[in-house]
Amino acid sequence: MTKLFNDPATFSDDMLVGFLDAFSPWVVGVPGGCIRAQAPAAGKVAVIVGGGSGHYPAFCGVVGPGYADGAVVGNVFTSPSATECYSVASAAHVGGGVLIMAGNYAGDVLNFDEARDRLRSEGIAAETLYITDDVASAGPDAIEQRRGIAGDCIVFKCASAAAEAGYNLDEVVRVAAKANTVTRSMGLGLDGCTLPGAPDALFHVPDGKMGVGLGIHGEPGISEEPLPSAREVADLLVDRCLAEAPTTHSGRIAVILNGLGATKYEELFVVWGQVAKRLRDAGYTIVDPDVGELVTSLDMAGLSLTIAWLDDELEQFWRAPANTPAYRKGGIDLAGNRREVQATHTASSAVSKGSTAAQELANKAVEALDAIARTMRAHERELADLDTVAGDGDHGRGMVKGSTFALEAAQAARDHGAGIGGVMAAAGDAFGSRAGGTSGALWGAGLTAFGQVFDDQADSFDPSLAVTAIRAMRDAIQYRGGASLGDKTMLDALSPFVDALTAALPDKGLVTAWTDAATIATQAAESTVALRPKRGRARPLAERSLGHADPGATSMALALTAIASISTD
Ligand code: ADP
Ligand code: MG
Repeated sequence: MTKLFNDPATFSDDMLVGFLDAFSPWVVGVPGGCIRAQAPAAGKVAVIVGGGSGHYPAFCGVVGPGYADGAVVGNVFTSPSATECYSVASAAHVGGGVLIMAGNYAGDVLNFDEARDRLRSEGIAAETLYITDDVASAGPDAIEQRRGIAGDCIVFKCASAAAEAGYNLDEVVRVAAKANTVTRSMGLGLDGCTLPGAPDALFHVPDGKMGVGLGIHGEPGISEEPLPSAREVADLLVDRCLAEAPTTHSGRIAVILNGLGATKYEELFVVWGQVAKRLRDAGYTIVDPDVGELVTSLDMAGLSLTIAWLDDELEQFWRAPANTPAYRKGGIDLAGNRREVQATHTASSAVSKGSTAAQELANKAVEALDAIARTMRAHERELADLDTVAGDGDHGRGMVKGSTFALEAAQAARDHGAGIGGVMAAAGDAFGSRAGGTSGALWGAGLTAFGQVFDDQADSFDPSLAVTAIRAMRDAIQYRGGASLGDKTMLDALSPFVDALTAALPDKGLVTAWTDAATIATQAAESTVALRPKRGRARPLAERSLGHADPGATSMALALTAIASISTD
C-alpha cells in the first residue's frame, strides 16, 4: 500500500516539495519539475528526462552534473503536459539546444513532441527520443512500438555524459539513439502497486505465480506463470534478453537488475548471483553493473533485467562520473554558482470580450463543462477500473482533474466577458496542461479545436455550427493521436456521435439530434468491448482488454450524454 499522503490529488506535488528540500544542493524546482541547482557551462546541450511520478529515482532523482539537466514531473503514472515539459526545458536550456527523453508511452510522446515544437518555434534547437527497451511489450518486428522500462537509465546516462563531454545536439541524439538500439529489458511482476488513496492494488499476482513481462505503471504482466526459484527467474530474464543480442558485439555489456519497489535489495542480490554467472559463462564482461532501484512502480513487487551491448563510445559514457540525488558515480564536485531561478512560464494572455451572442453561447459552454465535470466525478471509480484492465488506472483521476480545471478556466474567462471561442480556448488549454496523460492532451486539443470554429465578434450563430465544432474536435483528436476508427479509443464513441448528429440535424432540432446521437455514442462505447486496442498504453495487453469497454470511449460517451441532459432542461 501507498499509505502516507495528505491528499491523493496533491501527492506528486507534495512529494516534489520534500524532494527539492532534501536535495537542495543538487536541484531547484521550476514549474513542471526541477533543474540542476548549478547552471552548466553555456552552450552545453540540455538533457531533459521525464514522465509521470511514482518511479523514483526516475526521473527527478537523476538530475545533476554528469546526468540530466532537468526532469519533468507528472502526476503518478501520468504523462506531464506539454506546458510542463516546455517549462522545464526552457528553464534548463543554456544555449546548446535541448534533448527531451522518456520511455515510449503515447501520452509522453504526444506531450513531449508538442513541447519540442514549441521550443523550436522560439528558435531553440530541440529533439525528442523515446526509449523502447522492453522486449515483452512488442515483438522484434515492431521494436518501435515497445515501451521503455529500466533501460531508460542506460540511454539517459550515455546521452547525458555525451552532452557533458561537449557533444553538440546532433551528436547527443546520435549517442542516445545508438544506446537505445542496443538496450534490451525483460521484467517480472510479483504483485501490483496501490495508487495513493486507492482502496486496493491495481491488480494482484496470486501467491506462487509471477506476471511475466511487467509494465512500470502497474500494468500487469503479459502472461501469468508459476513462480520458480530465484535461480530460474534469473535464467528466464537472461535468456529473454540474450535472445536479442546483436549479431556482432564487443562482448562488453552494461547491466541493470532493477527492483520495482517492494522487492528487497537482498532478493535482488540473490537473483544477481545467478544473472552474473550466466552472463560470464556466456563470455560477457559486465561493465559497472547496477543492482537496485532505478525505475520503480510505487510499491509494486517485481524486478527487471536490462542489458546494453557497449562499444567504446557507449562504454566511456556509461562509466563517466555523475553526481545526482540518487545516482552517483566517480567524483564530481557540485561546483559553480547557485542558479537564481525565475519562473519561465507566464500566465495565458488576456481575455478579449465577445459579442452578446458569443457571451450567451459562452454561458452554455460553461454549463456543458460543468455537466462534464460532474459526470466525471460520479464515474471516476468506474473509469479507473476500466483503465486498470489493460492500462494504468489513471483515466478516472485524469478526467476528473482535466474537466475540473477546464471548468474553472472557462468560468474565469466567461466572467471576464469572453465569448464561446475564448471560453473553449481557455478550457482546452487547462484540460491539456493540467490533466496529463494521453487523454488529457487529446481532450485539450479537441476542446481548443471546438472553440476555434466560433467568431467571438459575430452577432448570431447558426445551430449547425455545433456540428462543425464537434467535427473539428473529432478531427483534432484524430490528427493529434493518429488513431483510426476501430483502434479502441475515444474516437470510437466520438466519431459515430459526429456522424449521427450530422445526419439528424437538418430534420430534428439540435437538442433532440444531440440526445439521439449521445445514445448512439453510448452504444458505440459499449461495443468497444469486442475490440483490441491498437493505440496507447493498453496495446501491449490487448488480449486482456477484450471483453471490457475502452475507458476513453466510455468517458467520451458519458460527457456527450451529460451535455444532452443539460440542453433539455
Ligand atoms: P494514458 O493511456 O496516458 O494513461 P488515459 O488513461 O487518461 O491516458 O487515457 C486512455 C484513453 O485514451 C484510452 O482508453 C483511449 O480511449 C485514449 N487514447 C489512447 N491513445 C489514443 C490515440 N492515439 N488517439 C485517441 N485516443 C487515444
Ligand atoms: Mg491511463
